[in-house]
Amino acid sequence: MAERPYIVGNWKMNGTRAMLSEARAIDRAAQRHMKVEVALAPPYTLIHAVHREVEQIGVGAQDCHPGTDGAFTGDISASMLADAGAKFVIVGHSERRMGHGESNELVRQKAQAALSASMRVIMCCGEDAETRKAGRAIQFVTEQLTASLPEMADAAEKLTVAYEPIWAIGTGNNATPADITEMHREIRALLVKLYGEEQGKAVRILYGGSVKPENAREILSADEVGGALVGGASLTADSFMGIALAAGDPLDN
Ligand code: PEP
Repeated sequence: MAERPYIVGNWKMNGTRAMLSEARAIDRAAQRHMKVEVALAPPYTLIHAVHREVEQIGVGAQDCHPGTDGAFTGDISASMLADAGAKFVIVGHSERRMGHGESNELVRQKAQAALSASMRVIMCCGEDAETRKAGRAIQFVTEQLTASLPEMADAAEKLTVAYEPIWAIGTGNNATPADITEMHREIRALLVKLYGEEQGKAVRILYGGSVKPENAREILSADEVGGALVGGASLTADSFMGIALAAGDPLDN
């Protein structure tokens, strides 16, 4: 885990141009904390504006269409996002898988479309509360990822995986560091199996689900945690950069 911790904010369906000041403040703070790689995924409508306002942080999108162009009213392709300034795409977020019925196969196609447009991919995965209670979380996530991960030759170098248990998203109930490490080790083993030792070990694995400045240090210090995907707490520079600061100053294990 030699790379800098990667802290990514997902603004979801939040933000108008009035929030560009937060993006600027996040960017300024990120310039002072280069030990951490910081990125933001604003809504589509702000990607270009955020891209123009910032110097340091990465800018990405929250989703893309699997195709390149055509008659798909309301959809946006990966190359259009790249043209607007996005450098990465989040795919397979549980709010897309559940709210929009996205299958593993569709998520895989979206990831491949993003890679074909020379973008990085953040591939989300995670189980619901019932699956965890039934003791099937690891099996579920392994199967979900196996069916969602892209197969292209250079996939692993541009890939980040985000483990986001659904029951932890937006609930205030984060997973324990021990549970996160257990799941991330399984994900690592799968990545090595799919992409080989060197490539599989280079993929960063983020945790997402109710990460806040108060719990960030403990979560981000856990073994195999390469950073965080942050929803609610990424909406203000203060809370988001509180998390980024914790990432740059881990606990001694
Ligand atoms: C998310 O939706 O990716 C997320 C992690 O949300 P939150 O941080 O609000 O739980």
